[in-house]
Amino acid sequence: QRKPSLEYLNRMGATGGKVPLGLKRKGLRVVVTGGAGFVGSHLVDRLMARGDTVIVVDNFFTGRKENVMHHFGNPNFELIRHDVVEPILLEVDQIYHLACPASPVHYKFNPTNVVGTLNMLGLAKRVGARFLLTSTSEVYGDPLQHPQVETYWGNVNPIGVRSCYDEGKRTAETLAMDYHRGANVEVRIARIFNTYGPRMCIDDGRVVSNFVAQALRKEPLTVYGDGKQTRSFQFVSDLVEGLMRLMEGEHVGPFNLGNPGEFTMLELAKVVQETIDPNASIEFRPNTEDDPHKRKPDITKAKELLGWEPKVSLRQGLPLMVKDFRQRVFGDQKEGSS
Ligand code: NAD
Ligand code: UDP
Ligand code: UDP
Repeated sequence: QRKPSLEYLNRMGATGGKVPLGLKRKGLRVVVTGGAGFVGSHLVDRLMARGDTVIVVDNFFTGRKENVMHHFGNPNFELIRHDVVEPILLEVDQIYHLACPASPVHYKFNPTNVVGTLNMLGLAKRVGARFLLTSTSEVYGDPLQHPQVETYWGNVNPIGVRSCYDEGKRTAETLAMDYHRGANVEVRIARIFNTYGPRMCIDDGRVVSNFVAQALRKEPLTVYGDGKQTRSFQFVSDLVEGLMRLMEGEHVGPFNLGNPGEFTMLELAKVVQETIDPNASIEFRPNTEDDPHKRKPDITKAKELLGWEPKVSLRQGLPLMVKDFRQRVFGDQKEGSS
């Protein structure tokens, strides 16, 4: 395996002082693709707070400038409007690759996962940067193993309506591992389970954002199918902590990053009712095609090797998201600023 560059080690403070003093423990130069999005913008906040120089590359397909506006004017922050499907030249130490249309409403036709990931891996190879891929629990498809362990290969329909996302991420993982093995790129792979929190897209059709917006607008909560399908919901700050530990650690992964607390959609609706409006009604709708029946991460590996586990329960996290959604749904001046 190719050794990390001296400059990289130097910036990580790993060379025991045998390097020119000027470079020691200087902040890293980090690219966050998709950094104007929901997860990306929270990650950017943490990196900026740590003193890194952060370059956000985003085409604003689902992201919003409002999510990162509070860093405008900071010389350590740069925002580039760019589609990662096109090549780009940058000089950086780390690449967090999040750019991807992530909700069913948006991912129907998009080559971002494959072509965008290839370009970012090419960039990582050229400059010797460490590359982290945000993959997804969807690589397990409609899982036949429960909970899902990283060694499970999944049960994915290759030609269904969700396939471009599931298979796109599976291909992205393959590309990352090929660049790792073939070109010695230092890669990290996170498999992210359903995540919620402030700055989520309000109308992108995901269940937590739908329920919260519906309850606030006094509309019925739309439960698809019989509502007995399960998901495990992770608060965004827990995810960001996991992503940073993975990037800084020595293990390639893949690692499941998710909260093992499992809820049926009817249970989730109940928690939303308790949090926002006990009188919110429920309306059943037909379910979408190929909807996974259950999903829950086994996070033993992340616990052991990254020393990471989620800290925020659904009942603690939901009110933090509601505050932000209330401001945005009702057009408060402080949009996106929580
Ligand atoms: P998001 O839609 O808020 O963020 C994605 C960002 O990528 C947006 O800012 C969007 O404008 C940008 N983008 C999309 N296509 C692009 C392109 N071609 N070029 C440049 N920028 C582009 O979604 P998110 O929830 O923050 O997801 C971030 C990452 O985490 C994604 O890779 C997603 O697949 C992964 N993930 C998220 C979840 C979740 O529950 N939120 C679960 C599993 C995986
Ligand atoms: N690439 C990029 N920025 C770089 C280096 C590469 O966008 O700094 C893109 C490049 O245009 C190509 C992809 O990454 O489309 C893969 O690059 P690589 O060098 O691995 O493959 P090659 O160009 O040799 O096929
Ligand atoms: N869902 C629902 N009502 C909604 C939106 C989604 O009951 O308004 C269900 C959906 O059918 C799925 C689950 O909630 O079973 C999670 O959907 P989401 O799109 O949030 O995430 P994913 O399916 O990608 O895990």
